[in-house]
Order: sequence, then structure tokens, then C-alpha cells
Amino acid sequence: MTSGQIPIDRRDRVRQAAGQRCGYCLSPQHLVLGQLEMDHLQPTACGGTDEEENLWLACRLCNNAKAAQTECRDPNTGQLMPLFNPRRQSWSDHFSWSDDGTRILGKTPTGRATIVALQLNNLISVVVRRHWVAAGWHPPSANSG
Ligand SMILES: [Zn+2]
Repeated sequence: MTSGQIPIDRRDRVRQAAGQRCGYCLSPQHLVLGQLEMDHLQPTACGGTDEEENLWLACRLCNNAKAAQTECRDPNTGQLMPLFNPRRQSWSDHFSWSDDGTRILGKTPTGRATIVALQLNNLISVVVRRHWVAAGWHPPSANSG
């Protein structure tokens, strides 16, 4: 992992900018086991750098699922779309929560493609969110993006 070479002060700035939560599924640091990871918006495998502009925060599930992907097909149209960029785009413009709070819904082609690419509604996440909802911790009340 090249992220091991990212200076600590840069990591801290990214964590603050991201609000200590995953930029894709919005899981907050205080509700997940293990540290949220540095996501390379443009994957290092595709020439992305460790510069702050190319970094955001992601949970392990999202980061692993994203891997070196930069685009995915919108399941509604089959059109190849760039993945959601949590640094440049607003989460609530592209996604919303299902009524029961357990599933992420895509509002745009990029949102829908990102849900597929990152498996944002994988079984583990849906089950965990169900418990968060029951505890009153979820979904997040607001997202400024
Ligand atoms: Zn996530």
C-alpha cells in the first residue's frame, strides 16, 4: 500500500476534510472497527498520486471494493460512468437513503454506477445499518457534501 508513505499531517487534513467518515457509504469513524483508510480518488494503479487533492477517506469495505476502478456502468442504461468523487461532488446530489435507512439509492447515473462498483448495499453493510437504525445512530441527519 502506497498510503503508508502519506505524511501524517496530510492524513489528518484529509480526515478532517472528510468529516471522519467514509466518503461513499458515510460510515463514521466512531461506528466502524479499524481506522478509515486513505482512498486514492484516482487510483495509484492509474497514475494517481499521494497529493492531498487525490485523497479522501473511505472505509475498508468501500476501499477494497473500489480497488483500481474509476468508472462503472449505470445499471439503468448500461452507460459507462465515472465513479462518484467525494472530494468534488456532493453525496446528497447523487445518493439518498432508502426509507428504512439500510440501503443507499442512486439518484444519478454516477450514483447508480458507484453503488454497483463499490457494492454499497452489500449484505454486511445492510445488516449493520439495520442495527444502527435500531440504535438511532443512522442514517446521518444531514450531509453538506
Ligand atoms: Zn464505506
